[in-house]
Amino acid sequence: MTIFKRNPTKSEQSQHLIFENKKLKSQLSAIIKGLPGSIYYKDPQGVYLGANDHAWQMIGLSSEDEIIGKTDFDLFSVAEAKQFRINDLEVMHTKQEVVREEVVLSSEGKTLVQLSTKKALIAKDGSVLGILSNTIDITLFKKLEIELLEAKEKAELENQTKTNFIRNIEHDIRTPFSGIYGLTEYLYSKETDPNKKEMLEEIKNSAKELLDYCNGILDLSNIDSNMHAIIEKPFNLRDLINGVIKIETPAAHLKMLVITSQIDDELPVILIGDPQRLQRILINLLSNAIKFTNTGHVKLMVVVGKWIDNRHTIIRFILEDTGIGIPLDQQDRIYEKFYRLDPTNRGIYKGSGLGLYVVKQSLAEIGGDIQLKSMGGVGSTFICDVPFKLPLL
Ligand code: ADP
Repeated sequence: MTIFKRNPTKSEQSQHLIFENKKLKSQLSAIIKGLPGSIYYKDPQGVYLGANDHAWQMIGLSSEDEIIGKTDFDLFSVAEAKQFRINDLEVMHTKQEVVREEVVLSSEGKTLVQLSTKKALIAKDGSVLGILSNTIDITLFKKLEIELLEAKEKAELENQTKTNFIRNIEHDIRTPFSGIYGLTEYLYSKETDPNKKEMLEEIKNSAKELLDYCNGILDLSNIDSNMHAIIEKPFNLRDLINGVIKIETPAAHLKMLVITSQIDDELPVILIGDPQRLQRILINLLSNAIKFTNTGHVKLMVVVGKWIDNRHTIIRFILEDTGIGIPLDQQDRIYEKFYRLDPTNRGIYKGSGLGLYVVKQSLAEIGGDIQLKSMGGVGSTFICDVPFKLPLL
């Protein structure tokens, strides 16, 4: 920088400005020359007017002079040059920035994928002076993108295979188990010989256990693969509750538990929603309540949680048991897949650790949520709030 000891004359001032401008220009051109991407500019006929180091090195030239004055047809294959020219013409015609992927052969014969950003160079009078382009090598990103896509396709295929397998389980395993369970139950109810009755009970319990496992795995698979669309159809809430209680009553009676339901009179008879999912939620909660309760009762209460408007309501399902309870510090974890409270429980209370995961996911699918009020040893109360639509009167 020049330091003036007195006020500079006009000529000294302009000399200084010229010097600073030249310095700035040479700094800028040094920066452009050294930039890692390829930067070049061409006239409207596609003749190169200038390029930074990366641009001419990329195509195996030894200086900028070797690129200036040439067109893409002198430097690349006809197919590549044609593609570049089409892009350049589009930019000059539309005067809009264009970002394109271009495939080229490097000087070492490698196929490269480049991302070119091209802009028209426009004079003050609006005429097009040529194009300016900035090109970066995205070969590695492209390779990763292809690998990711392939991995995704492979995972989807494997997932489809898993889904088919699960469908087969549904047909090939669950159906015969249901048959074994149903028939054993029938024979058990008819049998009068106490020894045979005891044996039949064993078979029945084992079949039920396996059936529950099977159902848990199927529910999990259905949820994880979003296999079943959410349903919105009218259903009778009281019929559904009575049906659920009927299914779970034999298990409760076997343990000498009192099982009851209480449905608020205020509740609408018909709701619009997903009865299958609601049934799955209530059966899982009820069967847990029965499983983890040794004396006392299991109670399902249904009340109006909130009237939203004349077309929407939230129904609250309260499941109360007098069972072993769930300690506060475990309450967050019980909704995790395969999580079971205490390994020492495993011998006593059988299960897959999937029921509450299925409940929570099913609730989330239909916009509901669940809360738990419990303490170790004093029973549990699960509260589910589920939104439903109301039919037009
Ligand atoms: P599981 O197949 O073991 O019943 P769940 O996912 O349904 O699996 O439940 C996870 C765990 O939460 C259970 O193993 C049990 O420890 C606890 N749990 C669930 N419901 C109750 C309940 N009503 N009373 C006490 N503990 C419960």
